[in-house]
Amino acid sequence: MPSRSRVAVIGAGAAGLAAARELRREGHAPVVFERAAAVGGTWRYEDSNAADPADPLGAGGAHSSLYASLRTNLPRESMGFLDFPFVADRSSADPRRFPGHPEVLRYLEEFARRFDLLGLVRFETEVVSVRRSRDDGAGAAGWRVSYRSRRPDGAEGELEEDVFDAVVVCNGHFTEPRVAAIAGIHCWPGKQMHSHNYRVPDRFRGQVVMVIGYQPSGMDISRDIAGVAKEVHVAMKSEPPYQIDTTTATGHANLWLHSCTIERAEEDGSLVFQDGSRIKADVILHCTGYKYSFPFLGGDDDGELAGAIFVDDNRVGPLYKHVFPPILAPHISFIGLPFRTIPFLVFQLQSKWVAGVLSGRLELPSQEAMMRDVDAFYSDMEARGCPKRRTHDLGQGNLFEYEDWVAEQCGLGRMEGWRKGMFVATCKNLADRPNSYRDEWDDDHLLPQAHQDFSKHSC
Ligand code: FAD
Repeated sequence: MPSRSRVAVIGAGAAGLAAARELRREGHAPVVFERAAAVGGTWRYEDSNAADPADPLGAGGAHSSLYASLRTNLPRESMGFLDFPFVADRSSADPRRFPGHPEVLRYLEEFARRFDLLGLVRFETEVVSVRRSRDDGAGAAGWRVSYRSRRPDGAEGELEEDVFDAVVVCNGHFTEPRVAAIAGIHCWPGKQMHSHNYRVPDRFRGQVVMVIGYQPSGMDISRDIAGVAKEVHVAMKSEPPYQIDTTTATGHANLWLHSCTIERAEEDGSLVFQDGSRIKADVILHCTGYKYSFPFLGGDDDGELAGAIFVDDNRVGPLYKHVFPPILAPHISFIGLPFRTIPFLVFQLQSKWVAGVLSGRLELPSQEAMMRDVDAFYSDMEARGCPKRRTHDLGQGNLFEYEDWVAEQCGLGRMEGWRKGMFVATCKNLADRPNSYRDEWDDDHLLPQAHQDFSKHSC
């Protein structure tokens, strides 16, 4: 592995931008492929026309799953990158601690400009496959990235390819909907939609809506819709760590939480809960999360990549610490797979680690040792009765341990105490005050330390 690598980065969302910056900082030459015409990924709001109305349960044509009313679910102090704080400044149109989504996009665009990343991005260029290059001479591993760029007339261009020393996958994982399986749904007369395609509440006016799932999107969307719908019912699993107190006031007289899943749908429009109770609904809105998907990894002739990285019940693996597939490390890596985390911080730490490993400054354990670590992690999950689909869920109490571990790999100290305190306080506030946690909080005492740390990075 040369100390300076030519690296393909797939995606220019927050993860891809963090990766590009850290790779270049380490002396590498990153090229970022981005399907869209601009940076920001998820944070580029796409109105309802972007989604395919004929496919309300599918990804449709849209990448972003943002709805119009979305405000961040983390305070801006904890959302920002380590040395580029997300503080309200003169260019902020929305200085709130939990701002609306346009403010996050503004921040990411500013990050890209500040670190001169835009010139590294090939916009409107979609990666269609990644394969090992067999003809790069001297036995060095090379990776052939095939891509298609949109031409100025809007038509798709020819398939082109380029060879890289390494590929960093940053394609995001909030686009391919996962839908609840409900017996009898094919005979149920109502409409269905996934939260990926939800933008504004208008179309639910006067309707009885069954929202399935009560993670941040389900929490927000059920309240958004309650403003116009006749009734909103939320069906949710009540299992650790997702136990929700369904007796908490929802803040809307027409919004009810049911800690019970839906067992079946009937032809008369009824949705029957596991406890036998039933609601006649007009619409089901699945707020049931997303599937990891890497369509460009399955196309190699000898199946090497497809054989080395599987997605099984939303477990992407085997991966050492959610980043490196042991057999292909360090040439292939993934940034941003963990969820229920502090995303931008984790992206930056993982990116620093990948960049340092690629330059040879940081060392990975042997392939066998990484594989043993992965096996031990999977065995531990199994022993705890934790389903595979939560492999990348860092919200089970292991987030800080993971952040500190990656930070230490990169030679950084443990993460600052205020970051951890703020995250814990926000999670508690969300559980206690789901209606108002973005406007009322108890962690003001952590702000002076945060701002003192930020002042080290003001430029
Ligand atoms: P994305 O932002 O999805 O970017 C991936 C990029 O890859 C996209 O630009 C896409 O066009 C591109 N791409 C994909 N495939 C290809 C290909 N084959 N070729 C070329 N380009 C490709 N996080 C927070 O910190 N705070 C919040 O409040 C918060 N709220 C959220 C609310 C919602 C509804 C959702 C869905 C997510 C939220 N998140 C939040 C998490 C959010 O996803 C992350 O903050 C982050 O933006 C994800 O960045 P990413 O780069 O991993 O993925």
